[in-house]
Amino acid sequence: MLEQPYEYTARPLVEPDWRRLPGFAGVTEEQWRSAQWQRVNCVKNLRQLRGVYGDLLEESFYADVEADQAGRATMSLLLPPQMLNTMAAGGNGTAVPTTAAMLADPVRRYMLPVASDRLPGAAASHPYAARDSLHEHEMWTVEGLTHRYPTKVLAELLSTCPQYCGHCTRMDLVGNSTPAVPKLKFDLKPVDRQAAMLAYLRATPGVRDVVVSGGDVANLPFKNLAAFVSGLLEIDSIRDIRLASKALMGLPQHWLQPEVIDGMGALAQTARARGVSIAVHTHVNAAQSVTPLVAEATRALLAAGVRDVRNQGVLLEGVNATAGQLLDLCFALADGASITPYYFYMCDMIPSAEHWRVSLDRAQTLQHDIMGYLPGFATPRIVCDVPYVGKRWVHQVAEYDRERGISYWTKNYRTGIERSDEAALDRRYVYYDPIHTLPAEGRAWWAQRSVDPVAADARAVASRAVASRTASAGPVG
Ligand code: SF4
Repeated sequence: MLEQPYEYTARPLVEPDWRRLPGFAGVTEEQWRSAQWQRVNCVKNLRQLRGVYGDLLEESFYADVEADQAGRATMSLLLPPQMLNTMAAGGNGTAVPTTAAMLADPVRRYMLPVASDRLPGAAASHPYAARDSLHEHEMWTVEGLTHRYPTKVLAELLSTCPQYCGHCTRMDLVGNSTPAVPKLKFDLKPVDRQAAMLAYLRATPGVRDVVVSGGDVANLPFKNLAAFVSGLLEIDSIRDIRLASKALMGLPQHWLQPEVIDGMGALAQTARARGVSIAVHTHVNAAQSVTPLVAEATRALLAAGVRDVRNQGVLLEGVNATAGQLLDLCFALADGASITPYYFYMCDMIPSAEHWRVSLDRAQTLQHDIMGYLPGFATPRIVCDVPYVGKRWVHQVAEYDRERGISYWTKNYRTGIERSDEAALDRRYVYYDPIHTLPAEGRAWWAQRSVDPVAADARAVASRAVASRTASAGPVG
């Protein structure tokens, strides 16, 4: 019998032993399970990172983190102990981290970036990389409410999270400013912003589906989240509500708090009585992040009446960009934690992300290679979030110049800024592969181009500043 390309084995989830880390050696189980303890003991800077790992890691590692934060980092450090504890823990969760193991670790690669991970010099960013690469702000109907798809909206309620991911696509707005990226700020007070969102939705019955996001809704006081969701539940046309929280994985202790679970139960009960679905969407990129605590929090949400918990991961080189890594993650989610694998997004074209991005060609191969192992309903779609379009399955590309790494996409609806744009559905929209993945001819073609990435980014910022209502196909190579 020949082996299958992927051999499935049911694996128990592992909560690594936090006491193996010097900074957590004396931490009790009760402390570890406390959301407040986790938040207070987050690592936000190098001093605190040293406090956790001490002499286990070499000076070169700390210097690498420091250089990244001072240089290219688009997100500041924010790591709950729960997330740190899943790094370099070995298969049984007892390994003592070494510098080499940390450098190679999939979670570390995107949650604790180091300068030596990035591609050198100008290669670190694609020439057409941009802050707000998806142009979400241009599609704000009111501050924080992106109306891109005909029947769905994204409500960004806040600009913070309990953890900051190095590749965050909303790096324009989310988190603290870094030396490389001064962040935009919301103008309206949260209460006014949310009132404006609810007013828009009441006046727009064609919208039936609201993704409540940020940031991460776990950073909202629960009563504020409940007030907004209750407001949505009073609008007859809203049939689906999805709450976005990576904290279900990064800080499951938050979702295990009795007041949060009870509150979710009350919301779910009201939703069920009105025939509305409330789901939680999380963001897990590596199998080792799915621990027993994550499973416990997920099952508590499901028991409270949440209809489904789904995962929207990001396809990242060095983290999960092999079929085996994706399938290991999906089985850990589905078998271990009752989380439905849903999407893997190709990493968006934000600055300094080229080392994480993969080509469309590679994404198509990965989609092919993961088919047939999971149940159909739990087989994730790998999607490209095409600027001015939205999610497209990677095989939906209309035309693809593999040599230059330029893919062309079409769409079948107008975004909120194209309602009077007759050409919107005839246009082709563009996405770019990372240049370092191209064949030599393609790399040479790009080397001859004179694209100033700063100018490209400035163009995106300027277009936001004037709140353009004119559709554009984005830069074409
Ligand atoms: S949790 Fe989501 S919004 Fe927050 S930093 Fe990570 S990717 Fe960005």
